[in-house]
Amino acid sequence: MKKEICKIETLKDNKRMSTQDLLQLIATKIDEGYTNFDINACGQHNIGGSSWAKNRDKELIFNVKNPGQRVGAMALPGTKILVEGSAPADVGWLNSGAKIIVYGDCGDTAAHCAAGGKIFVSGRVGTRSGALMKHDPKFELPEFWVLKNAGSFGFEFMGGGIAVICGYECDGLLSVLGSRSCVGMVGGTIYVRGPVSEISDCVCINSLNDEDIQFLSSGMIEFLKDIKKDALYSELTKWSDWKKIIPINPVLRKNKISVSDFRKEHWVNGGIFGDFIQDDFVVYDLPAVGNGRVRVPKWNGKNCVDCKICLNNCPQSAITIEDNLYKSDKDKCIGCSICSAVCPKNCWEMISNRKEIT
Ligand code: SF4
Ligand code: SF4
Repeated sequence: MKKEICKIETLKDNKRMSTQDLLQLIATKIDEGYTNFDINACGQHNIGGSSWAKNRDKELIFNVKNPGQRVGAMALPGTKILVEGSAPADVGWLNSGAKIIVYGDCGDTAAHCAAGGKIFVSGRVGTRSGALMKHDPKFELPEFWVLKNAGSFGFEFMGGGIAVICGYECDGLLSVLGSRSCVGMVGGTIYVRGPVSEISDCVCINSLNDEDIQFLSSGMIEFLKDIKKDALYSELTKWSDWKKIIPINPVLRKNKISVSDFRKEHWVNGGIFGDFIQDDFVVYDLPAVGNGRVRVPKWNGKNCVDCKICLNNCPQSAITIEDNLYKSDKDKCIGCSICSAVCPKNCWEMISNRKEIT
């Protein structure tokens, strides 16, 4: 196991190393036994993601300057990524167990789809951050801690994990979660300090209980230590300043409305293209058969070798053979395009349902 740090300079003689070359170089160095990297990047993507140390007892450490998008994407347990300064979009996308610390702000969609590990940010995060965070009970909860605030549309469709938005230096903001946050949130918890407005009505805002305070008290020590802001502990642990956002159980949700009524009453007045077309607000069941399909398969048997792969893979048993011609039954077919994808001879073409079906 190499003890020294592997320093990688990605700009030489005004030539920038490609993302692929950088990631391959990192993989080679890991194979040689390096575990500690110091990377002076110029916007290369995915740094620190999906790498195991050769000896898995050893932690992989990446110190990164000037990363591109998706720093720490799909990063694995046993990985620590420290970003000096700010980072662009998708920090920790689908983080799967790494600790990622950003000593600055993050662009949009930080912690998007995060499923494990910890993401610590010592500044602000952009729009749609925390969206689709999730938790598989087989693994530890993902955590996403932000010292300041999050942009709009955050935590959409969050399904699990914990986010902590500390609202530091956010005086004057109407909402430390921007607007339209938590739409479609079905799981997880967001702890927030500071004002919150224009939040989705599928969540509720509660006071903290003892368990919440215990979690935040110990987590805050680690977070502030890692972002080198220990001095803020007493300011950020006045628990009366905090709230907890959780989803409302859909079964208990009042005022349930149909998708059609939602579009009529809550969506853009007259429909999203209301200025141009009259919307009948009909919502089709999915998947549709018959004329409800958007695209339908059309068979051209010129090259057909009669292997029956399409027939055997159709999930609807919609394909039949008559007089050596393959047909798809429009009352069974859901337009999934599997026949077209599996045919080795490109005999099935998915066409618009407005054209005649053969
Ligand atoms: S589009 Fe899907 S459902 Fe329709 S015939 Fe092909 S495989 Fe079957
Ligand atoms: S998969 Fe293609 S080549 Fe095979 S039977 Fe179906 S249409 Fe013919």
